[in-house]
Amino acid sequence: MAKTIRIEIIAVGSELLSPYYQDTNSLYLTQRLNELGLGVVRKTIVGDDEASLVRCFREALKRPGFVFTMGGLGPTEDDRTREVWARVLGRTLVFQPKIFDHIRRRFKRRGLTPPASNRKQAFIPKGARILPNKNGTAPGLWIEDSGRTLVLLPGPPAELKPMFQDLVWPRLQRLRRGHSIRRVLKLTGLGESVLESEIADLYPKDDPLSVTILSSPGQIEIHIYGRTDRSRSSLVRKARLLEKAFSDRLGDFIFSNSGEDLEEVVAGLLKARRKTLAAAESCTGGLLSHRLTNVPGSSEYFLEGVIAYGNEAKTSRLGVPAALIQQHGAVSAHVARAMAEGVRRRSLSHFGLAVTGIAGPSGGTPQKPVGLVYTALAWDTGTQIEKNLFLGSREYIKFQSTQKALDMLRRHLLLTGKKPAVRIRGRKGRRIKGKVK
Ligand code: AMP
Ligand code: MG
Repeated sequence: MAKTIRIEIIAVGSELLSPYYQDTNSLYLTQRLNELGLGVVRKTIVGDDEASLVRCFREALKRPGFVFTMGGLGPTEDDRTREVWARVLGRTLVFQPKIFDHIRRRFKRRGLTPPASNRKQAFIPKGARILPNKNGTAPGLWIEDSGRTLVLLPGPPAELKPMFQDLVWPRLQRLRRGHSIRRVLKLTGLGESVLESEIADLYPKDDPLSVTILSSPGQIEIHIYGRTDRSRSSLVRKARLLEKAFSDRLGDFIFSNSGEDLEEVVAGLLKARRKTLAAAESCTGGLLSHRLTNVPGSSEYFLEGVIAYGNEAKTSRLGVPAALIQQHGAVSAHVARAMAEGVRRRSLSHFGLAVTGIAGPSGGTPQKPVGLVYTALAWDTGTQIEKNLFLGSREYIKFQSTQKALDMLRRHLLLTGKKPAVRIRGRKGRRIKGKVK
């Protein structure tokens, strides 16, 4: 067997030592390296001060292998990764005009000229190979130094990930050890404990496969991970069989097996069926529309989002009768129905989706506690309304509300794709066997 390659990751940035920012880049890198069958032996977070950086980089250089650093490549005073590596390696910094040209062009596209501070990004340790940055000014660098390989990547995840994928990943293929596979199933509408009891007997015992359940309010992910030094096809077959066994048990509680978020799945279904949507939101304050419009091309099917937060807005914007609000309260099945039907009627969309509820932490009563949320879906021949009781913080309740609304639409679209439109009415809406909130 080939010798193990030692891999270290160093996250550079004082903000990562504060309670406000997390080093998420190293999780991404570790995941990608694991896909190659490579493990990470050490992870460090270090602040921007020079003495700490020098000590940290020297320490990493003691043993042969790979060192990935992330961050500290920006134009500001506290971005020192390039300079410190040069110093630790005993190399001079050389000016690379083509890096500065790239920076100038980026600024020019916005009608600007780069400030003098950006010039420093064009100084790199002698002998370093440039990894051009399509999404920012800071180029990455690849440095070989007596048995060590140093890969310097920019801090912003939106720059680091594409650079890693396009320029670093291909260079790492020669290190690939064995084969690995990862499948991610995403679910909503099931509690974690119910899920666990449904599928626990399927967990692989002494296979090359392992299963991890990641649960958050409104969503659960089942990660199937496998690694082998032997046959790739046998690994793939085993993973497929396990995925199929999960699918058979969990059915359409699974909304994605390809990494898609719920709004992307809904987008795909709306586009395929050539249907349009409008949203009426109260307690979610626009989050539902935000999620829907995060999907590129959403203008094809998303017509309108109305944030009708106050009672008067529900009446004036959506045509919810004031008497209805008076009689049942803004958080009620009646008002949810009127909001969904109102936004659908006024926007002339195929579907109207509405949310009204109490996100908390205050405003709850024994009859209408915090977390009580009504979600409604209106279409040409019917309206489905669901009463939900969500737990957690304000933010979690808002997210779960959007998740539920999107899932109602997803399930409706799946159903109508198979059969002619089904008329589903009533306060409880369609009941799904085994559903747990
Ligand atoms: P820098 O390249 O050091 O200027 O980093 C710029 C920004 O990238 C920081 O302000 C962070 O928001 C982000 N960032 C830096 N390092 C990381 C990391 N390890 N994980 C996630 N985000 C990071
Ligand atoms: Mg920084």
